[in-house]
Amino acid sequence: MSKKQQALILSAPLFGDVHPKEQQEFNGFPCSGCQGNGWHWKENKYGDRIKEPCSVCGGTGKLKAVVTIEWKADS
Ligand SMILES: [Zn+2]
Repeated sequence: MSKKQQALILSAPLFGDVHPKEQQEFNGFPCSGCQGNGWHWKENKYGDRIKEPCSVCGGTGKLKAVVTIEWKADS
């Protein structure tokens, strides 16, 4: 079965001393805290089941990966 994969192809910036760091974002990962639902079941003080927003993804059900690349001399 095919698998969709997000990848980062690295190539050094033209002037490494001018831009020593870069940042890339990868979006659309299902939240591992709530399995992509955006909420958890919880009981309120009356014993009713209520949906509590996921604190990991803020209720969006999705996460993004922020990748920082720091360029340094290869010694
Ligand atoms: Zn979540």
